[in-house]
Amino acid sequence: MSLEGNVALVTGGSRGIGRAVCVELARRGAAVAVNYGGSAAAAEETVRLCRELGVEAEAFQADVADPAACGALVEAVKERFGRLDILVNNAGISRDGLLMTAKEEDFVKTLDTNLKGTYFCTRAAAKVMLRQKYGRIVCLSSVVGLRGNPGQTAYAASKAGVLGLVKAAAKELAGRDITVNAVAPGYIETDMTAALPEKARQAMLATVPKGRPGAPEEVARAAAFFAERESGYITGQVLCVDGGMAV
Ligand code: NAP
Repeated sequence: MSLEGNVALVTGGSRGIGRAVCVELARRGAAVAVNYGGSAAAAEETVRLCRELGVEAEAFQADVADPAACGALVEAVKERFGRLDILVNNAGISRDGLLMTAKEEDFVKTLDTNLKGTYFCTRAAAKVMLRQKYGRIVCLSSVVGLRGNPGQTAYAASKAGVLGLVKAAAKELAGRDITVNAVAPGYIETDMTAALPEKARQAMLATVPKGRPGAPEEVARAAAFFAERESGYITGQVLCVDGGMAV
């Protein structure tokens, strides 16, 4: 299957899963807008990797926690590429801590980035997609949003919220050939999981039936599957890419 002629926007495309998604979409022929927050050099490297695959790509700085910035981001992508077919809401953070001791500001920051960021970008992109009568929106949730995890109340709440958003938006937008789906990764090797203490990483690994962490490319393939035109009858769904963790 091919994404030739499609324009994709990937939030948090500078590193980790987001970069792998950009490259997978480029490999399938889509032009890629690589959003980043603070990692400009890393975003340029993602752009380089996409262009190497023969597609157009460009980096766009925007903080997804800022609604005005999300609106401007979608406008800038539309101006540069002429349309927007695929949005992958990937930008995310984790600020972990136990319920009784975690800081309120970390809860707010996590919700602002992971849930409100997804909402702001989805709303801005849907405006364009509704006019086009076509769109594929993919949101990164997490197994933690489905199952919970001690020490991650903020992150779990944000990722469970994403699932609610996906299901409601899927129902609202289905009539215009816009699908909204979620990918729920388990334990994937990126900067996010590298930051965890070794004990926490070993404990997480012990819950993975496959017995190994996942690679960003394995998540990217699931996101690209939802992004295909031919996946148009699938909406409001959650696909776990987790080595069996959530079973
Ligand atoms: P990562 O390596 O930490 O990368 C996070 C990405 O998000 C970076 O590109 C970062 O860009 C971007 N980002 C963060 N805050 C942003 C903001 N306010 N505005 C714009 N971009 C922002 O994380 P990852 O592991 O690849 O995770 C990607 C997604 O998958 C996240 O939503 C995460 O919750 C989800 N996920 C990951 C795992 C896992 O095991 N790794 C498991 C389940 C779900 P800059 O560096 O440019 O700021």
